[in-house]
Amino acid sequence: MDSHVFSPANAEHYATTMRRGIDVLTDHLASVEQPFSGRSVADVARTVDAVDLDQPVDVESALAELRDVYLDDAVWFHDAGYAAHLNCPVVVPALLAELFVSAVNSSLDTWDQSAGGTLIERRLVDWTTGRIGFADGADGVFTSGGTQSNLQALLMARGETFLRGHVDPGLAYNESLSRFRVFCSRDAHFSVQKSATILGLDADAVVPVDVDARHRLDPVALERALHDCLAHGLVPMAVVATAGTTDLGAIDPLGPVADLCAEHGVWMHVDAAYGGGLLASRRRRHRLDGIERADSVTVDFHKTFFQPVSASAVLVRDTGALRHVTYHAEYLNPRTANLPNQVDKSMQTTRRFDALKLWMTLRTMGADAVGDGFDTVIDLAHAAADWVREQDDLLLRAEPELSTVVLRYQPDGVDDDHADELNPRIRQALWRDGRCVVAGTKVEGRSWLKLTLLNPATTLDDVVRVLERVRAAGDDLLEHDRQGVAS
Ligand SMILES: *Cc1c(COP(=O)(O)O)cnc(C)c1O
Repeated sequence: MDSHVFSPANAEHYATTMRRGIDVLTDHLASVEQPFSGRSVADVARTVDAVDLDQPVDVESALAELRDVYLDDAVWFHDAGYAAHLNCPVVVPALLAELFVSAVNSSLDTWDQSAGGTLIERRLVDWTTGRIGFADGADGVFTSGGTQSNLQALLMARGETFLRGHVDPGLAYNESLSRFRVFCSRDAHFSVQKSATILGLDADAVVPVDVDARHRLDPVALERALHDCLAHGLVPMAVVATAGTTDLGAIDPLGPVADLCAEHGVWMHVDAAYGGGLLASRRRRHRLDGIERADSVTVDFHKTFFQPVSASAVLVRDTGALRHVTYHAEYLNPRTANLPNQVDKSMQTTRRFDALKLWMTLRTMGADAVGDGFDTVIDLAHAAADWVREQDDLLLRAEPELSTVVLRYQPDGVDDDHADELNPRIRQALWRDGRCVVAGTKVEGRSWLKLTLLNPATTLDDVVRVLERVRAAGDDLLEHDRQGVAS
């Protein structure tokens, strides 16, 4: 055990081991030619299952084995053929920070487990609330991801709804809770529903609100839904506006939503897990105008700030709202401690110092470089959409709002139902091939393919290559089906 511990006695062992790790990783990186190997679950499982975890080997052997069990079949987000989910290639300064995050291993729950780390995280929370446009008194905390940030935001909304006197004091807690409603667009992230369930709300507590032609929440429909809610004696607990929906990148109208929330005294949460990168954009920051009127905001740094997983934050206009996650334990953060303990603001206890990754990124690249990166992939999405529009056999769902391109293969003679059946198979065929990875989704009941572009180094030619593979896979499947019918 002793020789394995990170300590001054083993500093040399540490350095040589890490250097070997970096060698193996960079060697492997140089050999990556496609985002995925195409191997099946059963194939990969055979390799992983073959390892005897009770028979340790030396580091060299374990690194060699790592290629087989992991690197060879990993999904590589830096590869220009990867265009599926909201995964970004990661920036080097963040990886440099990871070295320190893991080795020093600060835990950001209490001052006495992190000290300076706590202050660095607080600076980054302040930096982010400053970009949002919150006034003094704003606060927040880093979390493991957008799902966790949304959950905490809605937990605070639930607590504030009780405190704001919207609840009949004659009712039992559960009776009150069963009347709470959360409003979001039909296209909001599924973590809103998940959070509502976790928070003990009714199964039908999340009210899906209609969207306009560009899939942005329709404020008129929201107003109607709020009135309906009140007319039935129910309690609007929160409105979740999405700033960048996961599929189409739609940004809900933040100003009009804020007006309605102010009018009805309802908590406004902005889920900017995807669109949060616009906070650093020099060209498109205005698209988030109105976000400063939110009560809480989710930002995923591990999406549009090019940070490694995990790095997210939930930000609040008023630090007081964090009281709903403040609990004291004698062994951890006694009430009398009077120290900056981040656990007072978090749903987690032991927590990684993920903030350091963003710190190193801002310190060496600067926010403009991050924002330019996001702008670049948004430009790329528009260029890709223009290209798709010119193809007879590819159908563009809509002009991109952020960096996703939603399209489908549908040549002449293939009707809508047939295309619905064909496109998911195209996606599967591409996955099995491995040279490109695309996502799939449904919009208004129809099947579409989705490219999520988050790599600023990807060119239009790269995207066209992916789209040509989509076409080739579609052509092959059609041909295969025809032969199947003929034979
Ligand atoms: C990705 C995403 C989330 C969830 O974030 P995780 O970091 O994956 O937990 C929430 N909302 C939106 C709009 C997202 O795109």
